[in-house]
Amino acid sequence: LVSRELQAHDSIVSIGGVKVGGGKFTVIAGPCSVEGQDQLFGVAEMIKEQGVPLLRGGAFKPRTSPYSFQGLGLEGLKLLKAAREQYQLPVVSEIIDPNDADLMYDYIDCYQIGARNMQNFRLLEAVGKQDKAVLLKRGMSATLEELLLAAEYIINAGNPNVILCERGIRTFETATRNTLDLNAVAYLKEKSHLPVFVDPSHGTGVKSLINPLSRAAVAVGADGIIVESHLNPKEALSDGHQALTADDFARLMADIKPFVAAA
Ligand code: PEP
Ligand code: MN
Repeated sequence: LVSRELQAHDSIVSIGGVKVGGGKFTVIAGPCSVEGQDQLFGVAEMIKEQGVPLLRGGAFKPRTSPYSFQGLGLEGLKLLKAAREQYQLPVVSEIIDPNDADLMYDYIDCYQIGARNMQNFRLLEAVGKQDKAVLLKRGMSATLEELLLAAEYIINAGNPNVILCERGIRTFETATRNTLDLNAVAYLKEKSHLPVFVDPSHGTGVKSLINPLSRAAVAVGADGIIVESHLNPKEALSDGHQALTADDFARLMADIKPFVAAA
C-alpha cells in the first residue's frame, strides 16, 4: 500500500486542513515537551509570526530514563488544544499508548509515533483505526524496509494519512546525537508515494547543525521538517540543548527560504 508502484503520484496528507506533501515544503515547529501555558503559547506565537503552519509539542514523553520529565499528559493535551484555538495552528503530538488514541483525538490533529515505538504494532493499529494524520518516525536502528512495513500496518488498518519521518539513526559516530540519514529521504521518495519529513533536531542533537541539515533536507527532496524550539532552552524540561531560540528560528526560516524557492 505504501509503494509507488501501486500509486505513482505523491500522497497529500492533511493535518487539520494544512496539506503536506506533493512538492510543497512544510515546517512543523514547537517545543519537545509541553511544559505550561506561558511556555507553549510563547513558542506558538513566535512560530506563527515566522509563518509556520503547524505546532508540535509532546504531552506524553517516551523518556530514556524513568526519572526524567514524563510530560504533562492530559493537561498538556488541553494546552495544545488551547494553543491550536488561540493561534490557529493544527497540532502534532506523540502517542505512546494504544489506549490513548480516542482520548487524544479531540486535542490533536496528527498523531506522532516516536522512534522508540516504530514497531509497537498495537500502537500502529490503534492510530490506523483513526482518521487523523500520523507522523511515523523511523526507529533508531530500523531499516527502511522496516519503516515502510510499519507504515503498511497503519494503512492496512484503514488510515492512509501517513507521513514518514527520518530522525537520525544509531551509527558508530558519536560526535552527533544521531546520524541523519539523507539517503533515506531520497530512497523513500523513490519507493513510496507517502510524504517524507526530516527531523534535524533529533537527527543531529546539535543546535548549530540544524540549519545546514534543514537546507540539505530541502535539497534532497523532503516534504518538510519538524524542528524543536524553546524561548528559554536553558529552562527546558527536555531536549533544551537542541532547541532553537526565537533568534535561531528566525535565522533558520530565512536560511531555508531560498532553497525552498529553488526546489
Ligand atoms: C520527539 O519528537 O520529541 C521525540 C521523542 O522524537 P524521537 O521519537 O524521534 O526520538
Ligand atoms: Mn525531543
